[in-house]
Amino acid sequence: MSAGLPPSLWAATAPPAPPTEALAGTVRADVAIVGGGFLGLSAALHLAEAGAQVALVEAEAPGWGASGRNGGQVIPGWKDDPETLAARLGPDLGARMSALGDGAADLVYALIERHGIACDLHRGGWIHALHGAAAIPEAERRTRAWQAFGAPVRLLDAAETDALLGTSGYAGGYLDPRGAGLNPLALARGLARAAMRHGARLFAPAAAAGLERRDGRWRVAVPPGDILAEQVLIASGAYSGELLPKLRRSVLPVQSIQVATAPLPEAVRREIVPGGQVASDTRRLLHYFRLDAAGRLVFGGRGALSGEAPAPAYLRAVTTAMRRSFPGVRDAPIEHAWAGLIDITQDRRLHVHRLGPGATAVVGLNGRGVAQATAIGKALADALAGDFAALPLPVTTLRPVPLHALRLPAMAVVAAAYRLRDHIEAAPH
Ligand SMILES: Cc1cc2nc3c(=O)[nH]c(=O)nc-3n(C[C@H](O)[C@H](O)[C@H](O)COP(=O)(O)OP(=O)(O)OC[C@H]3O[C@@H](n4cnc5c(N)ncnc54)[C@H](O)[C@@H]3O)c2cc1C
Repeated sequence: MSAGLPPSLWAATAPPAPPTEALAGTVRADVAIVGGGFLGLSAALHLAEAGAQVALVEAEAPGWGASGRNGGQVIPGWKDDPETLAARLGPDLGARMSALGDGAADLVYALIERHGIACDLHRGGWIHALHGAAAIPEAERRTRAWQAFGAPVRLLDAAETDALLGTSGYAGGYLDPRGAGLNPLALARGLARAAMRHGARLFAPAAAAGLERRDGRWRVAVPPGDILAEQVLIASGAYSGELLPKLRRSVLPVQSIQVATAPLPEAVRREIVPGGQVASDTRRLLHYFRLDAAGRLVFGGRGALSGEAPAPAYLRAVTTAMRRSFPGVRDAPIEHAWAGLIDITQDRRLHVHRLGPGATAVVGLNGRGVAQATAIGKALADALAGDFAALPLPVTTLRPVPLHALRLPAMAVVAAAYRLRDHIEAAPH
């Protein structure tokens, strides 16, 4: 296990954490960043490379949040396709946002290469498996829209999907050959090291406890010290707390949990996603799975609505789903089980908020962020160092979810309805 992080497969197998600084006294910077996940770390690295003085505070350790606990699936693009983005944002901003998403996975690979990050990268592609025939028309439309944008994606029929995944029952699939698998905590730590090598200062554990505008600058209180900066970027995702209560109340955090088997015998391994793709499906309460570098099956699904550790009932459900999909692992011991929070927003969209002059907050990756948060971090670094109006993302008004305090019972009802619809829509096995 890795000091300071909850136990997980990635904490057990990632290279050690880079040494960070303790914050005492007043630190001056061009940009203060709150949150050491992919978004904050990528912004810190790209700002530092551009010559800015950067001070990043992370309450626990780099990669401690969703970035160090996810499935490690590098997925290009956005959940919205270029047609949808153009219709919503207009042709210019829509095309620029699509381009950012389209290039997001390649950016991750370029960073890994340029900074020599050892993170078990395997570029086998990504399959989005279609749960039930009802998912086919939307997948066809999506495929056409991304193909028209130049993305090398294609649709798979049910037989090809089954053969590629090594399981049965999906109605088809959407293949993006640019997807990949990696150890996400190793990537987060590698980005942290690279940022520090380029002069960014990383403080951890260091929790930002207050934010105020004072004499034309931002003061981030980080007891026992503080940061004075021209600009501030809040990148606290699903782990946004009381620093900005309105931001916290704009997010509906939901657990996603994963289990990992022991390394599988070669014969079993060969039957599970034999082409080496990573995979997720279109269930409303989705399943996602892949083999890791040591041949463990890593399988994820929906967890509870709060909490740090996976609750036993959800663990049982995910383990059962894994064994049903891949009967060959029925007897394989489960070596790791862990949970992380997803920053769901009410409209399921990304939100970049301008909180005041030079103050920006981002939430709403909605469960897809390894490539996206890294790309958004770079785009924000470019915008903060240059012209904010050129940001290839829409800027939205911060609005807390109404009746946020009642979210748990409301979301429990929604989750039950989703589970029922997933069950009804299942293709016959
Ligand atoms: C279980 C799980 C599986 C997932 N699987 C995938 C996947 O396979 N592929 C994919 O693309 N996406 C996946 N995602 C989504 C992806 O992990 C996230 O979208 C992404 O990591 C978000 O990065 P971030 O930097 O915005 O936030 P985070 O990584 O959550 O970082 C936020 C950080 O802010 C810190 N923080 C909060 N408040 C403060 C404060 N006041 N002061 C200082 N620091 C603070 C927290 O400690 C935390 O480390 C998954 C998510 C989960 C939870």
